[in-house]
Amino acid sequence: MTSPTDPLVALGWSDRWAALADAAAEELGRDDAVPGRVIRHDGVAVLVATAEWVEQRSVLPAVDPVPVVGDWVLSTDESVVATLERTSLLRRRDAMRDVEQPIVANIDTVVIVCGLDRPVKDGRIQRATAIAWDAGAAPAVVLTKADLVDDAEATAKAVAGANPGVTVIVTSAATGEGIEEVRRLGADHTVVLIGESGAGKSSLANALSDGDVAVVGAVRAGDAKGRHTTTSRELHPLASGGVLIDTPGIRSIGLWTDAESVAATFDDIETLAGDCRFSDCAHGGEPGCEVTAAVARGQLHPDRLDAWRSFSEEVEASERRAEEQKWRRPEAPPASKQGPRRRGRT
Ligand code: GDP
Repeated sequence: MTSPTDPLVALGWSDRWAALADAAAEELGRDDAVPGRVIRHDGVAVLVATAEWVEQRSVLPAVDPVPVVGDWVLSTDESVVATLERTSLLRRRDAMRDVEQPIVANIDTVVIVCGLDRPVKDGRIQRATAIAWDAGAAPAVVLTKADLVDDAEATAKAVAGANPGVTVIVTSAATGEGIEEVRRLGADHTVVLIGESGAGKSSLANALSDGDVAVVGAVRAGDAKGRHTTTSRELHPLASGGVLIDTPGIRSIGLWTDAESVAATFDDIETLAGDCRFSDCAHGGEPGCEVTAAVARGQLHPDRLDAWRSFSEEVEASERRAEEQKWRRPEAPPASKQGPRRRGRT
């Protein structure tokens, strides 16, 4: 059903979505609904791009989960009638209520952007890789502003060493170094950039979207209710065939993770822990502890064990708070995550 000339392909359409869209349309008995991707969230409405149009749509109350940017949906001329089953979901912790807030769906790669003009903090990168695994996406680290430092490759090596299995790319938006490599990484993928303010995300996004493919389809002057519709969007098809999502919520993403994603981030420690004498070993000097033995042998860096410890404590505290909230607010169910796809795990 997909063809390279299909405008939906520029938005990331594939046979998977075609099959899900057909199944959902049949189940709902709606032959008036067409598939599209949410390219912006506008309060109660969403901006949807289909093969034919880019327009605002309301969302029927029965639609579950409520679509976010990146979701594939079925939409009629009036409303979104279905959200197709997600492959991944990036979530943010709501600091006030300690509940999760969905931000972006169906991302393949989370690019963690760090500026080489400031100290590259291992803890932050590990936290961000956990967020990516937790979302069901693969993390990659992009070190920007290589033109400003002499030792970019040494830093890249250190970051790669501290994050086994994570791709690390050195770039410079000023000289173009590494940009092609990031493009290749994101080809045919939906990618988001996360990182602190000033890390170089906008510059990287601009460099990547050089030759940005406009969202295809006619953009009508008004929406279904006659209101003016702007054409700005948060989802950018790239000439390389990938899709870049940049929503305001992503830039301030906090930690929302669980013990499982800590295990994915620190799988070397988890593997060693499997050989500890006690199954509940806390790796703090217990007899027969393989993890501390690995540190003593020089096989595991003590900083990595420290990072694992503070990360685990943070997750435990967060889970405890969430549990307390649950008892205090029985009426506030946590947002659901649909069918996450986990990768990079054995
Ligand atoms: P953001 O806040 O993460 O979006 O960061 P920006 O992309 O706005 O970049 C922050 C600052 O770093 C700006 O002044 C950019 O011009 C500068 N910058 C970004 N990338 C590079 C680079 O590769 N080389 C140099 N020399 N400066 C850069």
